[in-house]
Amino acid sequence: MSFSPSNAVQADEADALSMDDLAAAIDIGRPGAFAALGSAFLTRLPATPVPEPYVVAISADAAAQLGFDPAIAADPAFAAFFAGNPTSDWPAERLPYATVYSGHQFGVWAGQLGDGRAIGLGEVEHGGERLEVQIKGAGRTPYSRMGDGRAVLRSSIREFLCSEAMHHLGIPTTRALCVIGSDLPVRRETIETSAIVTRVAPSFVRFGHFEHFYSNDRVDDLKKLADHVIERFYPQCREADDPYMALLAEATRRTADLMADWQAVGFCHGVMNTDNMSILGLTIDYGPFGFMDGFNAHHICNHSDTQGRYSYSRQPQVGYWNLFCLAQALVPLFGPQYAEEGRSERAIEDAQRVLEGFKTRFAPALEAKMRAKLGLAEAREGDDKLANGLLEVMHANRADFTQTFRHLAKMSKTDASNDAPVRDLFLDRPAFDAWASGYRARLMQETRSDAERAAAMSRVNPKYVLRNHLAEQAIRQAKEKDFSEVERLARVLARPFDEQPEFESYAGLPPDWASELEVSCSS
Ligand code: AMP
Ligand code: MG
Repeated sequence: MSFSPSNAVQADEADALSMDDLAAAIDIGRPGAFAALGSAFLTRLPATPVPEPYVVAISADAAAQLGFDPAIAADPAFAAFFAGNPTSDWPAERLPYATVYSGHQFGVWAGQLGDGRAIGLGEVEHGGERLEVQIKGAGRTPYSRMGDGRAVLRSSIREFLCSEAMHHLGIPTTRALCVIGSDLPVRRETIETSAIVTRVAPSFVRFGHFEHFYSNDRVDDLKKLADHVIERFYPQCREADDPYMALLAEATRRTADLMADWQAVGFCHGVMNTDNMSILGLTIDYGPFGFMDGFNAHHICNHSDTQGRYSYSRQPQVGYWNLFCLAQALVPLFGPQYAEEGRSERAIEDAQRVLEGFKTRFAPALEAKMRAKLGLAEAREGDDKLANGLLEVMHANRADFTQTFRHLAKMSKTDASNDAPVRDLFLDRPAFDAWASGYRARLMQETRSDAERAAAMSRVNPKYVLRNHLAEQAIRQAKEKDFSEVERLARVLARPFDEQPEFESYAGLPPDWASELEVSCSS
């Protein structure tokens, strides 16, 4: 395999792509790409090779999005390539890059961070879409600080499974093309083996990228970064009186929508630091994330988050707080209408008004989602109380989040004869019954039949989510070099709303041993 800089591959020849073609299709020199921003934004460097890389998992769907046939993963050059092992020296013009950013971690300014273990390979253009390709766990970079630049197999499989699962749930996310493993040992709490995840996204720009240039007083670079993001992803902002204020408004809108998406499926990110917030409102940096089993409104999925800063119920508030950091970083760009006296105060007032948009966007977005989850086609006064009432009973009973909503569809609006599947999830049956009678009364106001409502509900309430114990089972087998469970689980999670009776057990409640599982920042 050679690293030819030529980019002669056409998208519609996708099926015919050889490994050489694929390597060449990932173009690092494309104008308008992040890599073209220059040395203030990134350091170009080779990946550090790993011994004997092998394919652990590949997403056929992500491959298709990039325009190539996943069968190419059988070529040994595939594993080598996505492990970051070149067969020859990296030509200077194709050298990958690690980007620099800063950020607030757990509410505290952390200073410079950056891609400590991820490097960008370049962009693929396919089907009119440009996607950046990044390999995570590819070795040390100038931003690695004390880290080894590696990622372990366990966390790489979790990231792969979850980012693809989120995509299939319809939640904005970075995607994962593949996981490549190597027996190279890495030290965490114990000695584990390493892996490299290939991530794919239109952009990996984080709030922290903006904070970096702001905190270093590099306004020209800050502007260059903002212009890049606007040109590529928010061109409509150019039409606004203040394009940078408009950029803040877009980021606010997307973040509010993302928070509503997460809350509606019981997803906890676990490390919502500003360096883990995407300017495109994508779910990014899967670490100690978790889908809740039994519902606890204050669930903390990250064992290292002792204060519960990133608990489930706090996620929207933290999203808002993080947007405030972004707004602060954009202040030097606001203008020129703020050019006269009192400039910065008025700019900040306006920015605050934009941030208020988070609240006006998030609450109705979540309400709409909850209404759909309850199968209510029409909006009525009191719907939010009904939804919150259910969440309260679920919380008190630690009722399974996914199953409760999924089984709700089975209830009849006329009588309690079909309540059992959902009712049985509640220890306090009278509390559930009290809520159910209010729900039934509300359903009587709807014109849809039970069957129509059930069908609609099954399209918004997933049956299959990446429960911790499912990931754990796949990881345990993968550690024994059996990757079939990773593949099977990914397949189930690719159709989260379908019944899939052959995979019924994947929708079941967690086994007892799952309560012992702990996920921390260690990855
Ligand atoms: P996270 O909160 O896990 O997304 O990571 C925070 C920062 O630590 C980022 O700058 C990462 O690139 C960096 N980092 C995490 N793990 C490692 C590692 N093993 N080696 C080098 N850098 C790391
Ligand atoms: Mg991160």
